[in-house]
Amino acid sequence: MEVKFTPWRLAYIKKSDTPPEAGCVLCSIHQADPAHDAENLLLYRGRLCYVVQNLYPYNTGHLMVVPYAHTADLPGLPEATAQELFRLTRVCVALLHAEYQPHGVNVGMNIGRAAGAGIDAHLHMHVVPRWNGDTNFMPLIGGVKLVPEELSQTYARLHPRFLQWSAGVEAGVE
Ligand SMILES: [Zn+2]
Repeated sequence: MEVKFTPWRLAYIKKSDTPPEAGCVLCSIHQADPAHDAENLLLYRGRLCYVVQNLYPYNTGHLMVVPYAHTADLPGLPEATAQELFRLTRVCVALLHAEYQPHGVNVGMNIGRAAGAGIDAHLHMHVVPRWNGDTNFMPLIGGVKLVPEELSQTYARLHPRFLQWSAGVEAGVE
């Protein structure tokens, strides 16, 4: 089993003025031992943000880019965090295109309950691949959303893509 040491996380914990919040699922995912990343569907740990699959996907390949910092304040997000959030969003779109060839992609944030945020205390960017015809009448009439691929299968397809991408970044050939 691969073991990753993440000394930068210690620095984050020491410096952060927005400490992780008990009971917040988006905090608990990245605080968990990286050995559990696969079962937590955590695809990539960046310096300031991480990428995770949505447990209740709107569609196959529904990803989220999440700052480590527990905050709902988008305007108040530190510039470096905001930059990494958007950089990883772009990477998600690129890797989803490479693996799934979707016809389109929705990217966006729901800020506040009124805007539809399921977890309104911790910012997260949704990246949702779309295919022509995926918005069929079934969710409307049946209250059922069909997601054809198992979450673990999605992880098995996307995780190597993130590893390959991050290896390229470290080698300076992004
Ligand atoms: Zn949180």
